[in-house]
Amino acid sequence: MIHRVELGVLRVDAALRSVPVLTVRQLTSSLRSLAVALSAGLACIPIAHAAEGAGSPRDAAAFVFSVPRSAAAVAADCAAMLADLRRVQARLAQGSEPPTVALLAEFDAMTRREEDTLGPLGLLAAVSPRKAIRDAADACEREHDAFVARFLQDAPIHARLQQVNPADDIDRRYLREVLDDFEDAGVALPVDRQQRVRGLREDITGLTQRFERRLREDRTRLSFTAAELDGVPGDVWRHAPRDAQGRFRLDLAQATVFPLLDNATRAATRERMWRAFMSQGGPENIQTLAALARARRELAQQFGFESYADFVLRRRMVRSESQAQSFLVTVKDAVRQRELSDLAELRAEKARHLHQSIDDTVIQRWDVAFYSERLRRARYAVDQEQFRAYLPPEASLRLAFALAARLLGVSVEPLAQRQALWHRDARGYSVTDTRTKALLGTLFVDLYPRADKFNHAAVWSFRNASTLAARRPAAALVVNFNRQGLTLDELETLLHEFGHALHSLLSNTRYAAQGGTNVPLDFVEAPSQMLEDWAYDPQVLALMAPLCRSCPVLSAERLARALAARDFGKGIQFSRQHLYARYDLALHGRDSTEPLALWTRMEADTPLGSVSGTRFPAGFEHIASGYAAGYYGYLWSLVIAEDLRTAFAADRLDVQVGRRYRETVLEQGGQVAPEELLRRFLGRDTDSRAFFESLGK
Ligand SMILES: [Zn+2]
Repeated sequence: MIHRVELGVLRVDAALRSVPVLTVRQLTSSLRSLAVALSAGLACIPIAHAAEGAGSPRDAAAFVFSVPRSAAAVAADCAAMLADLRRVQARLAQGSEPPTVALLAEFDAMTRREEDTLGPLGLLAAVSPRKAIRDAADACEREHDAFVARFLQDAPIHARLQQVNPADDIDRRYLREVLDDFEDAGVALPVDRQQRVRGLREDITGLTQRFERRLREDRTRLSFTAAELDGVPGDVWRHAPRDAQGRFRLDLAQATVFPLLDNATRAATRERMWRAFMSQGGPENIQTLAALARARRELAQQFGFESYADFVLRRRMVRSESQAQSFLVTVKDAVRQRELSDLAELRAEKARHLHQSIDDTVIQRWDVAFYSERLRRARYAVDQEQFRAYLPPEASLRLAFALAARLLGVSVEPLAQRQALWHRDARGYSVTDTRTKALLGTLFVDLYPRADKFNHAAVWSFRNASTLAARRPAAALVVNFNRQGLTLDELETLLHEFGHALHSLLSNTRYAAQGGTNVPLDFVEAPSQMLEDWAYDPQVLALMAPLCRSCPVLSAERLARALAARDFGKGIQFSRQHLYARYDLALHGRDSTEPLALWTRMEADTPLGSVSGTRFPAGFEHIASGYAAGYYGYLWSLVIAEDLRTAFAADRLDVQVGRRYRETVLEQGGQVAPEELLRRFLGRDTDSRAFFESLGK
């Protein structure tokens, strides 16, 4: 069964910049199963079966995305799915024969049925321009959650599963995961506790949705005069709506906020925007977060754990909260000096800029992005805005496709027949093996911002590979780029997200629940983080020439400066990531604590201190969602990403290494433990040497 996964860069803070982040939402955070995605049978389509069962992947057709016409259609499809799942549940519980691995195949069929409906719905909840559709999709998720919570407490089914004799390591791992899901759902608990667990899971889903909805439907706009926007690129604000005084009313989308914080010469402008951005979600979301932390702690206690972190981390690479904490301590030691020296440079730059003495100069949080950019321009002559002319959005996407063709041997082509998708900006592509021409998967891309659309960057791996059903995956890449072109930062984001899409689309797993990005949460970012560096490789950028004849060429020298500029400020970025990770573990640790007070205390204990009146946790979507107690995973998987890069050190386009990577890592999805995948690919155990070396640079 299912995982519902949204992978993406959630740049919660301008200071994060090159450290992308992801959102994984699982239905029940440790119920891997229950999470995912069904596809939308939504009224119009013959649900999942379109592309399945055709015998061989070669025969399979690209996935047909069916967009529901109404909220009623969503509800009807959801009801049909639940009816199907209940029928399977009844059948599974009976069975008189001793169960065989065929039982696992039945579980896989359930996962696929869930994906068929929930997959597209999960995506539509984030990108549909129609609120009624988004709300109906959320309602379906809640109903499905409730089903799963009961299903995983079904003792007769659990007992049958326990009798299955796995035939090989893949079956063994899948069986173990399914049994873990039952255990984490409370199958072994007394009835009263089971009931409480279901109630808590239901509360958690409802609270998470409420938290996310407040952010998605936030209509905050700030008014600025043209003079107040001095320094900010015109395309960010000139077309914004005006208020009665003719001022420009700017929203809080990243495509607005980040260029403003990077470029606005007036500190008051940056401060006002920064404060608004850091207060999204409002006091209501702080209360919701408090309720979430309480519900999660009580959930863990039902299973005899003192903290939610201990309860969920035992299923991850890191294994325990204490190991996550000791990892963070090691990182802290390595970045502290670097953060202080970065900040000293910013302070000196501010003093120079304002012609004042350094003793009178204080760096505020809304100064960090601005002075970092100034230093990058002065020292490295790198101005992110100037890259847009080199990187038109469509050509940049084709560049990512060309990279996949070269390195991994796959062709990405627009679907021959245009499907009606959720919005006219959305596009569909088929992904095939260049040599055999076999269809590998279907990719959807939604490039530009619009009202009510998910406003970060993410991939929905909403349909997964299952060799049992000759089923090929489908994934949607959702970003919000400026139509004028990308900065190099954004090209990095694009490659990061494309990395998630490839992980999903190239996987060739036996069970859908182990397809692509259905890997432990503290591993899932690694393949994407690895690819970010490809954005600075002249060989990679050279692939652009045949794709865009009119685009100017980025020189190797300029790319090298851009890379050095990116690495400036790493101390500040990693410290921020580190703070987020520690905060997340503290909020989900043993002691109950008020989220805002905890944040204020922890942020105050950093060199830049805390800013009164802001409430960052109210917009910290990761920890409201399935990333709870998992934020450390960004740094953890970065350690792995740095290690993966060592295999490409001589040549990032090495065809042999690329194929080996595709076969040993991407194709295996979650059916092999990450430690073992890494051993097979690297020829040794993974280690943190490359990561700490990179910090020293
Ligand atoms: Zn990611």
